[in-house]
Amino acid sequence: MNQPDLPAGIMPDYRRQIPEDLLARRGSWVWHEILQPGVIRHVAVDGSAILTVRVLLPPNGLLSASTLRLFASWIRVYALTGRRTSRQGFEFVGVRPEKLTEFLGKLRDAGFPPGGTGRSLHQVKCCTSFIHCQNAAVDAPSIAKAIADHFYGEFFQNDLPAPLKISVGGCPNQCGGGIEADIGIMGLYESVPEVDIEKFLAANIDIGLLVSWCPTGAIRTKTTPKGTLALIDRERCVRCTSCVQVAPEGIRLQKKSYVAIAVGGHGGNGARGPEMAAVVFPRVPARPVEYGAILKRVAGIIDCWHREGLPGERLAAFIERIGWGRFLQKIGADTVEDLGEKRPPYNNFRRDLHFRY
Ligand code: SF4
Ligand code: SF4
Repeated sequence: MNQPDLPAGIMPDYRRQIPEDLLARRGSWVWHEILQPGVIRHVAVDGSAILTVRVLLPPNGLLSASTLRLFASWIRVYALTGRRTSRQGFEFVGVRPEKLTEFLGKLRDAGFPPGGTGRSLHQVKCCTSFIHCQNAAVDAPSIAKAIADHFYGEFFQNDLPAPLKISVGGCPNQCGGGIEADIGIMGLYESVPEVDIEKFLAANIDIGLLVSWCPTGAIRTKTTPKGTLALIDRERCVRCTSCVQVAPEGIRLQKKSYVAIAVGGHGGNGARGPEMAAVVFPRVPARPVEYGAILKRVAGIIDCWHREGLPGERLAAFIERIGWGRFLQKIGADTVEDLGEKRPPYNNFRRDLHFRY
């Protein structure tokens, strides 16, 4: 299939990143199958095919210089090219069929097992958190690692009802996702940001900008003899951290934090269309380094779905079939008295960030 070509533009030209063989078949792929965990066969309209091998990366898809060199050396020998996936894994694209077995052995020996495809647990996605972000309420990569270690076998089993995607965000900004995942985990601060009155007044902060940045209208102003002060309404504040970005000199985040766990999100555009996750465990302790309270609840959700889900049934479809009330009961979550069978128990991350439990 001929695709209209794009002008080179200003951005680095993607065509220079793609081998000619792949570029020539761009837009001609008609179907794909999973040959074994982590190995995908893509078939083009002319019947030709390529193999792709997906491997798990450390949380946040972190890659050191030496790992990048190793991957580059493997691409030279075994594949046409490589790419980092949107879930922070890595795919070797165009793997030579006659070298596949040897390559899979190399990957396993080096600690990059092929997996995370089809009806398995996919790469656990997360934001950077403390690596270089100042907003983090919890360390998302550590939580992602704890989850990936705990459920390691699920990356390769291919026996879940459907794909399982778990995302972890260090704060409500959800750079690592959460709302779009089957299971989303999000860090939250225990209480609203604190205004340091002396420092705030001394910092000559742009009050108009500060007020306009708050997504819930939680910041009011108070005129004092020493200047204009910001007051944070505890009932309205969702602890999104935006005000701390605008006025770091005068507003600071609190230290204590926990996580909320949501279920039932997915971005696919199948018959149900994309859906946002809904919170089922609004306040879970996030204790490094074992994160036992999080793992226990995630395990309860996976076990219930694994045991009772029908083939092909994503978590959201499963919950809808058995009803939210029964699902909450089965996973040991608090039920809500007025919960209708089709209504999620709590509003989801996006529509309402009011976590006051
Ligand atoms: S989700 Fe929050 S903690 Fe994570 S990178 Fe984004 S702003 Fe930082
Ligand atoms: S944390 Fe977010 S919601 Fe709360 S006051 Fe600051 S900007 Fe507003």
